[in-house]
Amino acid sequence: MALTSLDNEVVEVSVIPCKVLMKFSMDFIYPAHTAARNFTLFREVLLINFPLMFRRQSRVVSIANLLIGGPHPIRVQSMTHTPTQDIKATVDQIYQLYEAQCEIIRIAVPNLSTVDAFRQIKMQLRNDQIAIPLVADVHFSPSVAIACIPHADKIRINPGNFNDNFSAFQQLVQLAKKEGKALRIGVNQGSLSKSILKQYGHAAEGMYQSVQPFLEIVQSENFENIVLSFKSNDVSKMIENHRTIVPRLDQQGFNFPLHIGVTEAGNDNYGRIKGAIGIGSLLIDGIGDTIRVSLTEDPVQEVAVAYDILQTCGKRFVHPEYIACPSCGRTQYSMRQVFDEIKAKTSHLSGIKIAIMGCVVNGIGEMEDADYGCVGAGPGKVNLYYKNHCVKTNISEQNAAEELIKMIETHETFLPSIEYP
Ligand code: SF4
Repeated sequence: MALTSLDNEVVEVSVIPCKVLMKFSMDFIYPAHTAARNFTLFREVLLINFPLMFRRQSRVVSIANLLIGGPHPIRVQSMTHTPTQDIKATVDQIYQLYEAQCEIIRIAVPNLSTVDAFRQIKMQLRNDQIAIPLVADVHFSPSVAIACIPHADKIRINPGNFNDNFSAFQQLVQLAKKEGKALRIGVNQGSLSKSILKQYGHAAEGMYQSVQPFLEIVQSENFENIVLSFKSNDVSKMIENHRTIVPRLDQQGFNFPLHIGVTEAGNDNYGRIKGAIGIGSLLIDGIGDTIRVSLTEDPVQEVAVAYDILQTCGKRFVHPEYIACPSCGRTQYSMRQVFDEIKAKTSHLSGIKIAIMGCVVNGIGEMEDADYGCVGAGPGKVNLYYKNHCVKTNISEQNAAEELIKMIETHETFLPSIEYP
């Protein structure tokens, strides 16, 4: 296939045999691509060969005790929906998110009077030994951002409404550095400053230019605990913005971790699909170090969707990978019921692939890389497979889930969770 390099050079690239690339560990690939003169070309070659493994090399940033970026797992975050001054409601929602395995929680701090509420929320959580990193989400007021520094683990500011107050941002950076806090410079396509909009409109160039003066200050203060984001509520634009902006930032040496998400995605299936396509496309490109699935629903719902997106993209594994055909007229057992039973009994496991197939027509081939399989074998009967070998035959559909669990229990080495960097 033909690829266009950054120098507009068209190069014909064929798929490199896996055997050759498999010899390179990711430790080798990272410095190699960083040093490569033509980053884009190298990235494309990797994407062709390792679509699920490639990850942009970002710096490591600490948010309290949590590390993001570099080789660390892509972190899942959400945001509370409660009024911040309602301390009890906000703490309750944080507990729910924490129990759902959310790893970073953002809280809106709209004015100076809510800074103290943020402080009390943090204190209450720490008193309860809950050390989940808390992020103060600040817009419009540099003084609120500065007031949050002693209490928040990370402060999110939006360059578009920081009122071009660069001296206040410099002060914020100096304080964050002194106190060991992180900052997120979160550019939103819908809230660029008037001066940027006038010059560049809503194009990716505006987002790129918007962040530049802030990054120059970060650089001049030798501060590295920075996360960046470039969000949009338009999925195609959000994907294209990152593909345009991120390589330019990396070339400048601003390879800070990226928080990715589709803003204002809505709810239900459509909101999930928007988040999955936007976030998933970038993850498969190797872009993204922390994700937020924005849903107009209870924020706990965002966490489960985020982990599903990460698993679908091969980035983190939190439950078994299920391969199941849709069933058709050839299916002779209660496949949907058996699938539900198997899921209910195995959802706490991770690092394994389980295939549930209606029949042998496509079933055996399609489940080739599954660890365990359940395939229709006649009216009300299934055969069970381990590593593509049929090991139990003519099991009644009522006993299928239980017999499969027995097989899994005899191979405990598959139980630990596997996380890809
Ligand atoms: S695997 Fe068999 S039952 Fe399932 S969809 Fe294909 S042909 Fe139909």
